[in-house]
Amino acid sequence: MLQNILISFGIILTVAFLAAIIISICENEKRAALILLFTAIILITPFSLLLVFPFFTTVSLLLSGIILSLLILFILPLKGKPPKPSGSPISGIDERITIFSRRELMQNTLIFSDYYKQHPEHKSPDNIFRKEPGLLSLQTRFAHTYGFASAEASFATVSYLAAGVNGQKSTKKQNRDPETLTKYIKSWAKKLGALDAGITELQDYHLYTVAGRGDRYGKTIHNSHRFAIAFTVEMDYEMMSAAPAAPTVMESAQKYLSSGAIAIQIAHFIRELGYDARAHIDANYELICPLVARDAGLGEIGRMGLLITPKHGTRVRIAVVTTNIPLIKDQKKNDMSILDFCNHCNKCAVVCPAQAIPKAERRQISGTLRWQINSEACYTYWCQSGTDCGKCVISCPYSHPDNLLHRVIRTGVRRNFIFRQIAVKLDDLFYGEKPKSKNFPSWILSESEKRNFN
Ligand code: SF4
Ligand code: SF4
Repeated sequence: MLQNILISFGIILTVAFLAAIIISICENEKRAALILLFTAIILITPFSLLLVFPFFTTVSLLLSGIILSLLILFILPLKGKPPKPSGSPISGIDERITIFSRRELMQNTLIFSDYYKQHPEHKSPDNIFRKEPGLLSLQTRFAHTYGFASAEASFATVSYLAAGVNGQKSTKKQNRDPETLTKYIKSWAKKLGALDAGITELQDYHLYTVAGRGDRYGKTIHNSHRFAIAFTVEMDYEMMSAAPAAPTVMESAQKYLSSGAIAIQIAHFIRELGYDARAHIDANYELICPLVARDAGLGEIGRMGLLITPKHGTRVRIAVVTTNIPLIKDQKKNDMSILDFCNHCNKCAVVCPAQAIPKAERRQISGTLRWQINSEACYTYWCQSGTDCGKCVISCPYSHPDNLLHRVIRTGVRRNFIFRQIAVKLDDLFYGEKPKSKNFPSWILSESEKRNFN
C-alpha cells in the first residue's frame, strides 16, 4: 500500500518535472531545462528503485516529506510584514526636466541656454550623452542596419498618429450606462491587442505641469478630464531576450505604435459618443503613464522605476486615454507582494550595464517612497549602444512568459512571503544572476547576413 502511494507520488513528480522541462526548452532557457533535468533525476530515481530495493522506501518517504512541506509552504497564505505603500507624489512634475525632453534640446538655441541656466546641475551629465553617437545611430555598438531602420519606421508611424490624439467631439451626445460602457471599452481594448485595461480618476499628480516635447514645449498643461483609462500591450519575449541588441528597440518602438494606435482608436470612439477624450501616446504625453496605470490597478512600480504587472512584469508598454465620459473606476488592488519581492530582489540593479538602478532601499522622493534610477546614466548607455537596452526589463523575474510554469511560481510568490524569498534565489539559480542575451529571432537576419549589414 505504502509502496503504491509512493510510486504514484513519483509518477506525479515525473509528470510535473517533464512539463517544466518542456516549457523551459520552448522558452529557449537551456540552463533552466538542464537544472530541472538534473534535479528530476536525483529526486525521481529513489521512487523508481523502491520496487527492487526496499531500502528506497525510507528514502522516498523522506523525499516525499520534504517535497510536501515545500508544497504546503507554497500553498499557505502567509503575507508576512507588508512593505510600506509607495504613496503618491505631492504634485505633478515639469516634463522639461525629464531626460526625454532634455535630449531634444538643440544646442545654440535660446531654449537650450535658458534650460541650462535654470538647471545647471543637468549640464555636465547631459554633455556626456551628447558626446555619444546616439539612439539608433549606425556608429553605436549594437548598430544593425535593418533593425534600426525598422525601429525608425515604427517611431515615424507613431508620429503620424499625433494628429489623432485630440479632436472634435460629436455634437450628438449619447448617454450610456457607465457600467456597460466601461465593460465595453475594456473588452474592446483587449480585442484591439491590449493585455489589460484599468480605469482611475485623474489626479493632479498624474499630470505634467508643463509640456516638454515637440511643439508643445513650454506650454502649461490643462487637462480637466475626470477619468484615465490605462492599458498595457505586451512586448514579445523572444525579441526582448536579445536585449540590449537591436531586436529590443525594434520591439519597444513597435509596441509604442500598437499601444498608441489603440489609444487613438479609443479616444476617437469616445468623441464619437459626444465626449471629450485625449490619447496619451509616445512623445505626446500629458501625464506619467506608469503612475496612472498603477492607480488603475494594473501593477506596482518596482525598483527599475517601471510598472510591474503581475503576469508580464515590466515587459509591457502603456498608453492612456483621458476623458470626461462617465465610467466606473477600478478598485485599486495594492499587490504588496510585488514591492516585497523587489525589496529582496536586486536583479535589475545587478544586470544594468550602466549601473543606473539603485541597490539600496526605497527613499522618500516628493511624497513617495520609491526607488529612483539614474536616468542620465541609463540614457548615456542607450546613446552608446544605439538601442533602448531593456536588459533590466527582460531580466526581471516577473517578465518570464505567462505560461503554466511561471503562473504556478507567481501564485506562490503572491501568497507566501517565505516562498517569495526562495523564488528570488531560484530565479538566480535557474536563469543566472546575470542572464545572458539570447540570439536574434531567426527571421531577423542570419549570422552571416548580420555581418554584412552591421
Ligand atoms: S534600460 Fe539598460 S541601462 Fe537603462 S536602467 Fe535598464 S538595464 Fe540599465
Ligand atoms: S528585477 Fe527584481 S528588483 Fe528589479 S524590478 Fe524586477 S523584481 Fe524588482
